[in-house]
Amino acid sequence: DRLKESKVYVRALFDYIPLEDKATPCQEAGLPFKRGDILQIVTQDDPTWWQAKRVGDSNLRAGLVPSKQVNFLNKFKHIFFFWLIIESASVSGFKTGLRRSFRLSRKDRQGSSGEGSDPGDPDYLTYEEVTRYQQRPHERPRLVVLIGSLGARINELKQRVIISKFLFCVPTDTTRPKKPHEKEGVEYHFVTKQQFDADALNNKFIEHGEYKENQYGTSIEAIRSVQAKNKMCIVDVQPEALKRLRTAEFKPYVIFVKPRVPESRRRRSAATSPGGGEHDLQEMRQSAIQIDQQYGHLVDRVLIKEDSASACAELRGILERLERESFWVPVSWVR
Ligand code: 5GP
Repeated sequence: DRLKESKVYVRALFDYIPLEDKATPCQEAGLPFKRGDILQIVTQDDPTWWQAKRVGDSNLRAGLVPSKQVNFLNKFKHIFFFWLIIESASVSGFKTGLRRSFRLSRKDRQGSSGEGSDPGDPDYLTYEEVTRYQQRPHERPRLVVLIGSLGARINELKQRVIISKFLFCVPTDTTRPKKPHEKEGVEYHFVTKQQFDADALNNKFIEHGEYKENQYGTSIEAIRSVQAKNKMCIVDVQPEALKRLRTAEFKPYVIFVKPRVPESRRRRSAATSPGGGEHDLQEMRQSAIQIDQQYGHLVDRVLIKEDSASACAELRGILERLERESFWVPVSWVR
């Protein structure tokens, strides 16, 4: 097991504040970290508390962090307590009733969140073992995945950044009418509703969804065919697609485009378009919060979008660095 070696790197998938942790043997010796931080695990001699350093910290002191095991137990504490209560209840009818309601509530949870006991579920997360990875000249460039809030105009950003022929973007299928400046197969594949429904039924899409009564979906074959050109390839998808894209095949670099809505703009849009504008902004903000909670641990980079020119410049910078520099990726992608 690689995790037994002394120099192992992991990405933290949760925030840790030692001063708030009642279980730690020594709060002062704890190493605070945030979700997404890369930790170098220095020793794992103790099965419950590891010693770690935070990569990039100027302070090189190692501190205590909960091991995978201890953090896992913490997450499931409530379930163990519940199980204990059930087991200690003596009346068998009460027991069955409780068990049934427990099962039902779990099922409800799975139905509503669509996550269930999925390992990607933020509730079950601990650490992900990572390693430095740099693309070699003969290797296929990484897939760049843009995710963002509903209505965040990511497609526009994607189109603006395509300035060189070494960059390709994967068009999404949509049922919405083509706008005059758009070209079939560039911004989107424009398809009929019947075609879209048939494709969705045949599982052509890695994800699909509706926005303002139009359907949008990205097909996995479209991604593969663009990637086969061996050029850097950008796709914008709804974050659900990350579950299927985060594999060694695609090695996605995930950028979360977060709109920044300045106070003045909020007020102006509320005044100029009563209901509509403000409602859209509200929806955009809400969806950004949701993405952050549910998928934040899978994001490599957050790009705050002030306006489209600066977002575009920043995205270009990121793409250039992706070719030159090394980045942390899950070890399973390079084994
Ligand atoms: P537009 O029609 O203005 O280009 O895009 C409007 C909205 O459609 C986007 O902000 C986004 O919320 C949604 N959309 C665009 N592409 C996709 C996609 O690939 N999948 C899904 N589910 N929605 C998309």
